[in-house]
Amino acid sequence: MATAYHTQPAAANYYSPSSSHHKERGYRLCDTCGTAETPATGRFRLCGGCMATQYCSQDCQRADWASHKAVCQHTASTMSAAKQHTVSGISDENIAKYLRKFTSSHQDLLSWAGFQALQLKRCPANVRQQALLIELNFQNSSDSMRRFTVKGTHIVPKTYVTGSDPLVAADIQRRDERSRRSGGIGTALIIIQCGALNQVMPVEVDAPNKISWDDRNDWAEVLHHFVHSGRTDFKPISTTPRGTYYG
Ligand SMILES: [Zn+2]
Ligand SMILES: [Zn+2]
Repeated sequence: MATAYHTQPAAANYYSPSSSHHKERGYRLCDTCGTAETPATGRFRLCGGCMATQYCSQDCQRADWASHKAVCQHTASTMSAAKQHTVSGISDENIAKYLRKFTSSHQDLLSWAGFQALQLKRCPANVRQQALLIELNFQNSSDSMRRFTVKGTHIVPKTYVTGSDPLVAADIQRRDERSRRSGGIGTALIIIQCGALNQVMPVEVDAPNKISWDDRNDWAEVLHHFVHSGRTDFKPISTTPRGTYYG
């Protein structure tokens, strides 16, 4: 039975090239209002309960608490259960920590791979039923960017996560509704799995006509390549009537 960590990045979005200059590598988004962390906003605060969700301000954290509380306590309790369990001297808690770092370092790559794997440009309705599952192998490397390699990728039903975990299902539904209210198509789920640990990365996806990313069939090879080489500088390619963009 896999343990679900419902964690960051929470409110990632696909930006059209016109707004992409706001986006910096490693940026973080407030889970309430969607503001991106920049030098001007100051450092975002992390929820002390789950250490996973982030906010731009105390006001945004307070405003979100009623809807965040259940999944927050759930994440915190699975984390403390993971402390007890160790594999070859490394506790699941530490592997979970490395997985979070992996997910945030490769946020652009993982979002893009999910978008391509689910073929959301051609078939936006796939976002409702399907999820991308990325299986990782852990290796105890001192290089923090080389602790995981890609073992395989699979398209799975969204119920892979939501079916066994009503709290996570409710949180994803809240994101779906938020995405649709702002003209998006819903929440793409990218599930990063390592052994018994699951990290769920929900990505709220803009309307397909606002997404200029090229359709790519080689997403799995690209994913393998960037993860294996420890590269975190991935940029999606967009071809528009005005030219080709990386970013
Ligand atoms: Zn905020
Ligand atoms: Zn929390």
